[in-house]
Amino acid sequence: MKKNIVESMAFFASQEFEASFRYDGKDLGAVCGEDGTVFKVWSPFAEKIGLRLFRDGMTEEVCLEEEMQAEEKGVWKLTFPESLHGMYYDYLVWNDGKAVRTADPYAVGCSRNGGRSMVVDLRKTDPEGFREDRAPEACEERIIYELHIKDFSYDAESGIPRAFRGKYKAFTVPGEMGKYPTGMEYLKRLGITHVHLLPFFDYGSVDEAGDEEQFNWGYDPVNYNVPEGSYATDTEDGIVRIRECKEMIGALHKNGIRVIMDVVYNHTHQEDSWLERMVPGYYYRYNEDGSLANGSACGNDIAAGRAMVDNYIADSVMYWAREYHIDGFRFDLMGLLTVELMNRIQGELDEAFGKGEKLLYGEPWSADSSPMEEGTTAAQKRNTGFLCDGIGIFSDDTRDAIKGSVFYADNPGFVNGGQGLEKAILHAAAGWKNGGACFEPRSCSQIINYVSAHDNYTLWDKLVLSMHGEKADFDRKYADVLSANKLAAFIYFTCQGNLFFQAGEEFGRTKQGEDNSYCSSPELNMLRWQRTVEYGELVEYYKGLISLRKKLPGLCDKSPSAARRVMCGRIQGEGVVSFLVDNRDVRPSRWEELFIVYNASDLRQTVRLPEQERGDLEIEHKDYPEGAEETKTAVWEVLADGSRADCCRQAEITAEGIRVAPHSGMLLGRRS
Ligand code: CA
Repeated sequence: MKKNIVESMAFFASQEFEASFRYDGKDLGAVCGEDGTVFKVWSPFAEKIGLRLFRDGMTEEVCLEEEMQAEEKGVWKLTFPESLHGMYYDYLVWNDGKAVRTADPYAVGCSRNGGRSMVVDLRKTDPEGFREDRAPEACEERIIYELHIKDFSYDAESGIPRAFRGKYKAFTVPGEMGKYPTGMEYLKRLGITHVHLLPFFDYGSVDEAGDEEQFNWGYDPVNYNVPEGSYATDTEDGIVRIRECKEMIGALHKNGIRVIMDVVYNHTHQEDSWLERMVPGYYYRYNEDGSLANGSACGNDIAAGRAMVDNYIADSVMYWAREYHIDGFRFDLMGLLTVELMNRIQGELDEAFGKGEKLLYGEPWSADSSPMEEGTTAAQKRNTGFLCDGIGIFSDDTRDAIKGSVFYADNPGFVNGGQGLEKAILHAAAGWKNGGACFEPRSCSQIINYVSAHDNYTLWDKLVLSMHGEKADFDRKYADVLSANKLAAFIYFTCQGNLFFQAGEEFGRTKQGEDNSYCSSPELNMLRWQRTVEYGELVEYYKGLISLRKKLPGLCDKSPSAARRVMCGRIQGEGVVSFLVDNRDVRPSRWEELFIVYNASDLRQTVRLPEQERGDLEIEHKDYPEGAEETKTAVWEVLADGSRADCCRQAEITAEGIRVAPHSGMLLGRRS
């Protein structure tokens, strides 16, 4: 099987290859139960493959070495009549007369630092009650909280027991140990519906035998189907990470929160991965000159679009959904994967768990171009309309319109002094459905609205930098930054689509101006729980927005017609826009219509209501007295303004309209 790169690439994509070697069985890996253990690998060009068994994850002493038997379609198999649960293993794969050692890319367990695979009878890893574990009922809205496992509990102020800090286990304690709610108790009170956890498959950048001072976001996969070891309380016994990861998920479910897993199938920690060692040359993309493609900017691109690569990715997603009860997946650099693969994954999840039960979304871009397989469609933003309804994309257009470019610290958006953004903001409100950003989503349900994520500056830092310059003090509670923060949240919480924010955005999280903290200290990265008190006003505002959003069917609508609910979009002046939302629904709502104003200007604005524009609002007194409580035409109620969200008081409407304070939003509901 000697071919040059170009020939190999063509061969891998050919009908001939598919017919001879495509294997659709779901039994690759080591499947272990009371009645035996079956090892299967896919490696169509190997000359022979040897299996080696070990007592533990460290010692070099081989307990048993045995040759695998070749089966059809490039599969190799070895069967044992007994359960080998708890044994460790690896393979010697022979190519060109040379043996290369590898762990099993399909392994479900591994040794400390992942170098050796582990045989696991998965039923023996379930914590108590996990078999009965179910995701909480789907909520009216998806409000996704992006969280890193270590960030969540590393701060001693969390009150979480020391042994659990930075670990899966931190999610299993109530978070009521200290002077104020932290941890799980805090999450519950906040009202978010989903926690999106940064990568927790086994990754390579943290030494699992090393100290607690290490930190990494974890976008460097080693064992795709095994939980990361550094979040477990014991890294030596490969079962512990599996059990504790399940405990975390079970605890989130018990507290009414669904769990989304951040997955990184676009590249691996190193090109010299288990996939590469198992089938050299097959799993990565190459340029015509034979060099590795690097659309991920991480050194290699997984060759999504090839039959067995797609099978690998789809099988891995299904595994996490089934075995760990994961409720959704966020795809890192989804633009390097294909529309065909994403739709297939959605289809398989829908079939297994019910339509829309599992949420999918991703970054609809790549770091650089990558040689995709011919005939495939990149899952890039421009192709959003080809993705199924249920597959979402991060809306960088909404993000940048609200707060400015992520690449230039001083570049402002609508809320922090940017000009000429009124139109973009109105497009954002309507979920970009009308092609306002050179792409056309199939429906607003595909839009993930956000203004902060782990990448780039925190929202607080971005606002401080753009409003007060580089020498600013990130720990100072600037009043204008606070208002801009509230307005930014107000805006995306009133846009069509799904809602997403980085943990701590609601308490002015700062990383002291560091925009790429992927391997910074845990102290810089961690959630500082004291800030939930210090910025309590902001936390309350977010809580209000969260609870209000869930009550407004006109904003929660995920059907293809949701964009049509947004009407009468109007630029009222520089930095001031307004629009109406049809809030009627099958479930009764107190308000049939919403009127929303964003005022990013420095002045108090008086904005006419739609019926005033039409001239059919009766105003009793032409000169409405300041501070008056009521008028007979005041059927509008204020549901949120710049200082409070989720309130309900009669709106004060004058002949000129409704007054909206500078740097704030206004949300009115018209009584049904
Ligand atoms: Ca690891």
